[in-house]
Amino acid sequence: MPQTHKFKAESRRLLELMIGSIYTHKEIFLRELISNASDALDKLYYKSLTENLGLSKGDLKITLSFNKDARTLTIADNGIGMSKEELENNLGVIAESGSFKFKQEMTDVSDDDTSVIGQFGVGFYSAFMVADNVSVTSKAYGSDQAFLWASAGAEGYTIEESEKDSYGTEIVLHIKEDAEGDEFSDYLTDWKLRSLIKKYSDFIRYPIQLVVSKHTHEEDELGEISHLDINEVETLNTMVPIWKKSKAEVTEEGYNSFYKDKFRDISDPLTRIHSKTEGAATYDALLFIPEHPTYDYYTKDFAKGLELYSHGVMIAEKCADLLPDYFSFVRGLVDSEDLSLNISREMLQHDRQLKTIAKSIERSIKNELKKMQTNERARYEAFWEAFGNQIKFSLYNSFGMLKEKLADLLLFKSYKTEKPITLQEYFDAMKEGQEVIYYASGSEARIRTLPQVDAVADTGVDILLLTANVDEFVLQSLVDFDGKDFRSVQSADLDTATAEEKSDLEKASTGSKRMLTLIKNSLGGKVSEVRLSNKLKNHPVCIAARGNVSVEMEKVLSAMPQADEYSPKAEKVLEVNSKHPVFAKLKALYAADDKETIKTYAEILYAGALLIEGATLDDPSGFVDKVIGNLAAQPVAKKEEAKAPAEEEAKP
Ligand code: ADP
Repeated sequence: MPQTHKFKAESRRLLELMIGSIYTHKEIFLRELISNASDALDKLYYKSLTENLGLSKGDLKITLSFNKDARTLTIADNGIGMSKEELENNLGVIAESGSFKFKQEMTDVSDDDTSVIGQFGVGFYSAFMVADNVSVTSKAYGSDQAFLWASAGAEGYTIEESEKDSYGTEIVLHIKEDAEGDEFSDYLTDWKLRSLIKKYSDFIRYPIQLVVSKHTHEEDELGEISHLDINEVETLNTMVPIWKKSKAEVTEEGYNSFYKDKFRDISDPLTRIHSKTEGAATYDALLFIPEHPTYDYYTKDFAKGLELYSHGVMIAEKCADLLPDYFSFVRGLVDSEDLSLNISREMLQHDRQLKTIAKSIERSIKNELKKMQTNERARYEAFWEAFGNQIKFSLYNSFGMLKEKLADLLLFKSYKTEKPITLQEYFDAMKEGQEVIYYASGSEARIRTLPQVDAVADTGVDILLLTANVDEFVLQSLVDFDGKDFRSVQSADLDTATAEEKSDLEKASTGSKRMLTLIKNSLGGKVSEVRLSNKLKNHPVCIAARGNVSVEMEKVLSAMPQADEYSPKAEKVLEVNSKHPVFAKLKALYAADDKETIKTYAEILYAGALLIEGATLDDPSGFVDKVIGNLAAQPVAKKEEAKAPAEEEAKP
């Protein structure tokens, strides 16, 4: 008896899930095993081309056969095969990429919910959804020893030496007994296998052959009838990859299920691009924009890239050079006759043809996105929700170099329409004489309470709401749009006052210069100026920023991991409402020479203005003490005695 090896913990957990699975799509096990077989054929064919092994593509195939009585289904390939170590490493643990996330996800997933499974690269284990016993006999290409890996489930697996005529892998599934709702016996019929191959694996580029034994009889010259069973081989798939078909031949459903199977997504893609390009570069491309980012998309583990085929053979699984970083969310593949088959992966990077293809692909993605933006706004908004950050970060990181390419993809929420709009749409709706594009940053709810926003919106112009941390940095990197500068409503340069308002303000300011300087000095360098404002309606104060760093940006920068005391700070201007009673109070205090109280007021005004901006205070407790202390010091005014209502009613 060979020794039983234990599965690694997470593999075991996954296996248990598979075995007890009530997942409704158990039939996908066949697709998974066939896709592994097809990969193994690819690997061998690729090796043959690069090492001149002289194998013929026509000899490579996948063979299915079944035995109803023994309840076995066999999937065999004459691909690269596996050595003993490979059997152990590949089938003893979950595929590396998926395992980490899987472990994390596991805590949130109920035992029955295996709909997540497809995403994690656990293909082989799916066999245990339909089989109670799986054995894999494999012989690596170039080796003369075969090995048998066998497992009856979570308890573990055995590996022992075995016999096999030729290289490749043969997987024998012992199919489970039928259970309620699960007609496992169907997998032992040719009609079921035929329909599953059509459904999931039609595009596999190697023949998938089904061996069916037929009962027949022969009559000899003497009229003697003899019964015999003959094996007939039938190729089940058409072998034309979906991207080689014409668009008219593929249904929406066909594209979607191809996408979901191939890229292990549970949602349909948002959109697809199926193109056949000829000219400077000749290639077929089938690209998808997913509905959601993959779990690792915004992490450093994410690797972008498209599958690359040449003459129908996969030559790179993730060709990063085919996608610019800003479109790294695109999934799909490219098949080109222009590329030499035995080009090494290192050489690919410098290939001129590949660069031409990459440029052309970039253009089609951009066009598709613009088309969606114009014609299918809701879908585009969903795209933006999922991947807008990627585009914004790319713009920002390029210091505006990508402006031409990406600025027209941006969406920002509009104050007026309450919907996301493009910069062009803002531009087109600008008022006669409007010189700048206004924006405000922070959370939408807070922006809508900002005193300055009211003042600007009252003049009838629209304001872009910059609700993501990166937004303001993006606008800065753009510098302008079609010649119009961006102007924050929170900026000290904001100027919406009429001539009359300006002269009023001028008068009030001249009379209060010294007092304003006193306030500024008592704040000890926290603000660069204290000035009067008349854009604040009923609000007493606000903070405006001067220069390149806004208060919002200061917040973002100081929250970054590398932030320190030298991180850029906003140059702040404290604006006091000249029409607010607090201004009259300040003047009175100044006239009474009560510097101490003015200092307290200055601190409260400054802290209050910071809070409006959503900034944090260095000394929140000091602020609260002052406000509440002041409240408590207010004398209680005696209320006039209200007349009793009864008296009133008594009057005739
Ligand atoms: P994935 O296919 O996502 O990597 P699987 O669990 O399906 O995960 O397979 C694990 C590994 O086992 C594969 O990556 C491959 O190296 C190997 N393997 C599976 N089936 C075969 C096969 N038929 N021939 C050769 N190698 C195989």
